[in-house]
Amino acid sequence: MTARLLEGKFFAAKLREEAGQRAAKLKEKYGITPGLAVIIVGENPASQVYVRNKHKACTELGFYSEAVELPETTSRSELLAEIQRLNNDDKIHGILVQLPLPKALQPYESEVLEAIDPLKDVDGFHPVNVGRLVTGQNALIPCTPHGCIRMLELADIPMEGANAVVIGRSNIVGKPMLHLLLGKNATVTICHSRTRNLAEIVRQADIVVAAVGKPKFVTADMIKPGATVIDVGINRIAPKKLVGDVDFEAVKEVAGAITPVPGGVGLLTIAMLMQNTVAAAELQLTK
Ligand code: NAD
Repeated sequence: MTARLLEGKFFAAKLREEAGQRAAKLKEKYGITPGLAVIIVGENPASQVYVRNKHKACTELGFYSEAVELPETTSRSELLAEIQRLNNDDKIHGILVQLPLPKALQPYESEVLEAIDPLKDVDGFHPVNVGRLVTGQNALIPCTPHGCIRMLELADIPMEGANAVVIGRSNIVGKPMLHLLLGKNATVTICHSRTRNLAEIVRQADIVVAAVGKPKFVTADMIKPGATVIDVGINRIAPKKLVGDVDFEAVKEVAGAITPVPGGVGLLTIAMLMQNTVAAAELQLTK
């Protein structure tokens, strides 16, 4: 059996289209153009690529976009002041601080993320948004897991009553994924580095979400025939070779549906950032 391929390109296009339609409504009804500010501190080359891609996505949808490039030597108080300036700027509806921060600023990461107005927190990392997600309220939700759940919906993968297993418990992917699946009435188990009998638990799953950061971590013998396998992992195994956490070639022969890497979940993240920017602008209207 060969699994149905859940291609990121197809779902990302749908999600961007939705973002564009919601933005057009905001423009028509209230004269608002969604605006995103991305703060980048220092010169991490991977972060620079991500920031350029975010700017490009904004431009394509006609959003206002501001890249705030700060030097490596930026102090904690300078960074906090920049966030305050953007919190008070009406053109900006979404603020994102590109991580990782340079070493000297890393001890202040939580303080920096909490300085962002929760209504402008398009990464969904602020404790107010985390709390709202956990309690089932309208929240700005981290883009990658948000993209995964929207893809499952758009692909008509049944979630209600399904056994879902999330591998990985990070604040960015694993934990929000748990709450999103729970919100869809799945029965959710979360596995992590201390889980016993992981393979046995994963074998019970109708939906597997892998967010571990280890190539070929999920093997074919762990997969129930027909299960849906979402691979969030991005692992660079050679200068130009990216792979996920799932042994794709073997697992696709067992699974019912599977996301490839590259070309899967990675493409959804920026599309969801565009949706979160629109959602933030909509939320700010009501406050
Ligand atoms: P992380 O390192 O913060 O978390 C990894 C998780 O895996 C941890 O919770 C840990 O408990 C678990 N883990 C580690 N070893 C394990 C083991 N042997 N058995 C079971 N669980 C184990 O990583 P993250 O930020 O959640 O990212 C996970 C992966 O997803 C990475 O490859 C990352 O690059 C990728 N990622 C992709 C996107 C995207 O846009 N597609 C976004 C974020 C992260």
